[in-house]
Amino acid sequence: MDVSLLAKLLEDNNQPKFRLEQVKKAIFQDGVFSFENITTISKELREKLKENLDILSFFPDKTLVSKDKRSIKALLKLKDGNLIETVFISPKPNIWSACISSQVGCPLGCGFCATGKGGFKRNLTAEEITDQILYWKQYMKKKGLAGVFSNIVYMGMGEPFLNWEEVSKSLRNLTDPDLFGFSSRSISVSTAGIPEGIEKLAMKFPQINLAVSLHFSADEKRDKFMPINKKHNLEKLKNSLRSYFTHCNRKVFLEYILLENVNDSLEDAQDLIKYLKSIGNFHLLHVNLIRYNSTSDKLKPSSSSVAREFKNYLLRNGVNVTIRKSLGEDIQGACGQLAGR
Ligand code: SAH
Ligand code: SF4
Repeated sequence: MDVSLLAKLLEDNNQPKFRLEQVKKAIFQDGVFSFENITTISKELREKLKENLDILSFFPDKTLVSKDKRSIKALLKLKDGNLIETVFISPKPNIWSACISSQVGCPLGCGFCATGKGGFKRNLTAEEITDQILYWKQYMKKKGLAGVFSNIVYMGMGEPFLNWEEVSKSLRNLTDPDLFGFSSRSISVSTAGIPEGIEKLAMKFPQINLAVSLHFSADEKRDKFMPINKKHNLEKLKNSLRSYFTHCNRKVFLEYILLENVNDSLEDAQDLIKYLKSIGNFHLLHVNLIRYNSTSDKLKPSSSSVAREFKNYLLRNGVNVTIRKSLGEDIQGACGQLAGR
C-alpha cells in the first residue's frame, strides 16, 4: 500500500484530513483486505478507492501450511511477474512472527542457501517489503487465526543491507505509530555481514535488533561457503561489530548453522569462542545455533547429540547460546529454503 498515493487520492476527492487516518487505521491496524470492507467511509468513496488503488503490491499465488500448523509459507507474485516468499511462524502458542524478504533472490550465493542458488533478480521496494506484513495481517483476519502478531524478522530472501534505501524506508513505516506501529525491539534484521549496513543500522535504527549470519569463525571455511567473506572477512566484520557497540548497548545475535563435519567440531567451537572474545562486549553476544535445513545433497545437518555437545561446550565457556528450533521444514519454509518457486 502506497500511502502517498492514498493521501493524494483523498485530497483530489476533497476529503477532510481525518479521512486519511480512518483509511490508514482500517488497512494498517485492522488488516482489511478490500476497500469495500471499510465501513467507516461512504460507499462512493470505497468505490473510488477500489478503482484507483491496490492495497497489496503483489498477488498471493499460493500458501502452504505445515503439518503442525505453526508455519505458513506464502508465494507472492509481484507485478513484474517475479516471485518472492514470506513465512508466518508461531514459535509459541498465540504468538506470530513474520519472516520477510528484502530482495528477489540474493546476489551473495552462500553455499548452503536455496535463495542464493537461484541468483539475484532485483531489490524489493519498501512497499513490497511492508506489504508482506499487510498480507499476514489480512491472513490472520481472513482465517480467524488467534494470537498476536508480535515480531518481524528480515530473514527471508535476500540480503537486506544490499538494499539499504528501501529496507530503511520499510523499517520507518513498520515502526511509524500512524502506520503499522511495531516497536523497534520486535524487529530483527539479519545480514551475512555487510559492514556498512551494520554501521548504518546502529546509527539510524539503534533499537532494531541485529542478527549476523556468522556460521564460520575461520576465514578459509567462511570463504568457501560464504563468498562475501572474501570481500568482507572476519576481521572487517569484527571491526563493524565493535563500531556497532560504540553506538548501541544492545544484544547482537550471531547465527551459526551446524553442518556435519564442516563447522561442528570441538576446534570449531574453540575458534568461535576465540572470535567472540576478540570482538569485545562478550556479554552482549548471543549465539543461535541453527540446524541446517537441507538444500543440497552434499551438506548434512549435525546430529542432535553433536549440536548439544557444541552448545554445552559454549555454555561452559560462558557464551550465551541457544539452539534455535526449526519450523516449517516440511513446507520448505525454513530458513534458507526460500527459493521463490
Ligand atoms: N541474507 C541474510 C538474511 C536472509 S537468510 C543473511 O544471510 O543473514 C536468513 C538466515 O537463514 C541466515 O542466518 C542464513 O544464514 C540462514 N540460512 C541460510 N540457508 C540456511 C539453511 N539451509 N539452513 C539453515 N539456515 C540457513
Ligand atoms: Fe543471501 Fe542470506 Fe542466502 Fe547468503 S544466506 S545467499 S546472504 S539470503
